Amino acid sequence: MSSSPVWHPFHQHGLGEPIPLVERAEGTTLYTADGRRVVDAISSWWVTTHGHNHPRIMKAIRAQTEKLDQLIFAGWTHEPAETLARGLVDMMPDGLGHVFFSDSGSTCVEVALKMALGTFYNRGEDKRSRILVMEHSYHGDTIGAMSIGARGVFNRAYAPLLFDVGTVPFPAAEPQPTYDALEAACAVGDVAAFIVEPLLLGAGGMLTYPPAVLAELHAICARHGVFFIADEVMTGWGRTGTLLACEQAGITPDILCLAKGLTGGSMPLAVTLASDEIYDAHYSTDRAKMFFHSSSYTANPIACAAACANLAIWREEDVPGRIVSLSAKLGSLLESLSTRDDVTNPRQCGTMIAFDVAVPDQGYLAEIGPRLRDHFYGQDVLLRPLGNTVYAMPPYCIEDADIARIADAMASGLDMLRA
Ligand code: PMP
Repeated sequence: MSSSPVWHPFHQHGLGEPIPLVERAEGTTLYTADGRRVVDAISSWWVTTHGHNHPRIMKAIRAQTEKLDQLIFAGWTHEPAETLARGLVDMMPDGLGHVFFSDSGSTCVEVALKMALGTFYNRGEDKRSRILVMEHSYHGDTIGAMSIGARGVFNRAYAPLLFDVGTVPFPAAEPQPTYDALEAACAVGDVAAFIVEPLLLGAGGMLTYPPAVLAELHAICARHGVFFIADEVMTGWGRTGTLLACEQAGITPDILCLAKGLTGGSMPLAVTLASDEIYDAHYSTDRAKMFFHSSSYTANPIACAAACANLAIWREEDVPGRIVSLSAKLGSLLESLSTRDDVTNPRQCGTMIAFDVAVPDQGYLAEIGPRLRDHFYGQDVLLRPLGNTVYAMPPYCIEDADIARIADAMASGLDMLRA
């Protein structure tokens, strides 16, 4: 028993008071206990692609709860997992025929790393064990995922636990240094995989780079036999304008990580899709070559049913049309703000827009981010700046009136900083 009768939440990024208590949500709106209607302009950490409590997804969840809640997924299987795996293989690029289930973005990334190393190990090429990453990347908060992410305020306390990786520079306006660094690192012969957030680096500051650069990075890895892992945990499910960001570069990764929008943001579920080459290296008659990764809730049937409903929405509704239309509207919003002299580096990648506030960057915990966030909440808009980077990434179903509220909140936030 705690000595304190008061419940004290151990909050993630526990900044800001009071902490809003949300009672229910629908579409883009969060309804708080104190009667506010808040626009969720970041899809609750980039997950609710179709909006909160989507009727088709909720119906699928309710139906599944009547049948099967949970099942050991080692040597056993169930209908929602089978349907989902088939649907994913159908929908994703050819060559990614093997689906491994897990339960969060961080975990599906760790699974990808294990698949890459396991493949070389099983082939007797265990010298290939180094992982390459891109500067400013974020891949999650578990120890392995932090190891391959940018080092900073989020993880500096845990540095002794993190493993060493090779880092190539972010491909800024001039990508040649990135190509050269990747080429040189791959040429050493000890690299198992290069992991990237395709086209859009999220938590690292909403940084974008073009499809042609992504295609070239993929080509360099292919030339050196280095596995290319696409972490589409955030970029997948249409966020960058196409179902996958990789599509825009015309590439198929060796390993693909999907989470967040996989269930339309309704339930925790993730998948790692892999090529035949990776699967074949693990599943022979030799038990020692099996892929060892299991967790209790892997392929939870209710989460799988929610994901099946997401796939049905993609198959049967005009999601691409919604994305095109939303991208255009967000583009206009960004353009109108870009005329201000306190807005710099405006950038867009599909249904994500971002800009930097023109003050010296004081780092992630700089005062400016929390001040803006509190201002936005005062305007009944959920936006969480990353340092001095303000971005929006709303659900695809957002209505024009709510886009206008985001625009007003952003503009008045900038005015507030000036005052
Ligand atoms: N990869 C990327 C690109 C992400 O943006 C995130 C989460 N923001 C993760 C991995 C980790 O996902 P999760 O929070 O579900 O562990």
